[in-house]
Amino acid sequence: MKYTEAVCKKCRSLNEKLFLKGDKCFSNCTIDRRKSSIKQRKLSDYGKHLREKQILRDSYLMSEAQFRRYFSIASKAKGRTGETMLKLLEMRLDNVVRRIGFAMSIKTARQIVSHGNIKVNGRVIKVPSYIVKEGDEISLKNPALLENVNIKKSMENTDKNGLRPNYIVYNPETQSAKVTRIPERSELTTKVNEQLIVEFYSK
Ligand code: SF4
Repeated sequence: MKYTEAVCKKCRSLNEKLFLKGDKCFSNCTIDRRKSSIKQRKLSDYGKHLREKQILRDSYLMSEAQFRRYFSIASKAKGRTGETMLKLLEMRLDNVVRRIGFAMSIKTARQIVSHGNIKVNGRVIKVPSYIVKEGDEISLKNPALLENVNIKKSMENTDKNGLRPNYIVYNPETQSAKVTRIPERSELTTKVNEQLIVEFYSK
């Protein structure tokens, strides 16, 4: 079956998997079929920088203005700007909800958060861009939601495929997950060259 929904178009235009469609990304992805048959277009230097930026921006389903804000914050922080930016994106609450396994895609995770279904340290947080900190405990507002067919399937898929990163520990007894530390760059799954993104915005 051909998979042609709107979000897949983003991946197709970049010829890169952005994992926007949940479990379909692992089982029925057009990019997997295309990659071997389609030659990568030769890109200009500007094109290479632009492509890298688009891959990261679109993986988190962000507008240009939102994404640029992360660059601006990271560039003012201590340390390597690109790495800081990646870590900030990774620690967004919607992304952490996806990494825990409560949702299979960033879009669904964002909906779960904005509909008030997620608690951080016992308090409902409805802001998907909330930055999770080391030690924060994330749970569903109503534990009965773990029986929701989509959430259940997503959790099972996360466990079965070992998709939950090491810095997030899920406790089935408390039905909550703890972010035990801020991840290292090497632990982040994104394959982008963040230096190209820094250069893109610094020109
Ligand atoms: Fe679609 Fe996911 Fe494949 Fe992207 S990675 S093309 S969103 S199925």
